[in-house]
Amino acid sequence: IIIGDNIVKSFGVDNEKHNVLDGVSVEINEGEFVSVMGPSGSGKSTLMYAMSGMDGIDGGKVSFDGRDLSALSEKELADIRRTKMSFVFQQPTLLKNLNILDNIILPSLRDNRKSAAKITEKARALMKKVGITELEKRDITQVSGGQLQRAGICRALISNPKIIFGDEPTGALNSKSAQEIMDIFSEINADGNAVMLVTHDAKVAARTERIMFMRDGKIVSELKLPKFDGMDMDGRVEKVTVEMR
Ligand code: ATP
Ligand code: MG
Repeated sequence: IIIGDNIVKSFGVDNEKHNVLDGVSVEINEGEFVSVMGPSGSGKSTLMYAMSGMDGIDGGKVSFDGRDLSALSEKELADIRRTKMSFVFQQPTLLKNLNILDNIILPSLRDNRKSAAKITEKARALMKKVGITELEKRDITQVSGGQLQRAGICRALISNPKIIFGDEPTGALNSKSAQEIMDIFSEINADGNAVMLVTHDAKVAARTERIMFMRDGKIVSELKLPKFDGMDMDGRVEKVTVEMR
């Protein structure tokens, strides 16, 4: 669904210019579960933002469902970004003074083609799926980090996106919560959504089917794994760790 062809992204001015993405080509297929690993500053987040059209690029091309993002009008790009993609971050950007349910439904209420009742119904189904049903009235300051991230995931899923991007979605969680969040991402993926995660955690990456390793703005290697079936986690983590070196 997304093809990045020779993406170049640079920051800085004139002779201080520095290619943060230095000709990256990457393809994400429908329903695929992929991750990106690499040292801090290697360009992982920048790549994800470039692929989602969140950020413009300085060279190369990104296409979504065969459409060159740079050829779209602002409105077309905004429509694709709103209806076909979603983001989950390390710290979910939820609003204080609003309860969990309202935080989940707020972005879709602005898109008033669907009724509020329908949106709320969908939100409740998602909350049930990720196990936060009892928290719908709770203020976001009164839940744990893992619960907050579940709410962030519900909010990301409510538009039924074709792809979910996660930038360190488990980065703020302990390893038990991280694995629970990964169970949810696995389920989302099994439902047919593509998922692309950036992570520093070999145990998180080991749950995905394909890991891209970045260094200095380039993808330097790739590791393919069979779909995770709950078995051989240690073997998978071992393969990731070896590839990381
Ligand atoms: P981390 O693991 O720490 O999140 P990352 O691999 O996600 O790192 P990026 O955030 O993609 O790294 O940043 C890659 C490089 O681009 C870094 O050197 C960073 O300083 C630089 N960079 C990112 N955004 C900007 C910006 N808006 N202006 C200038 N430089 C930037
Ligand atoms: Mg980053």
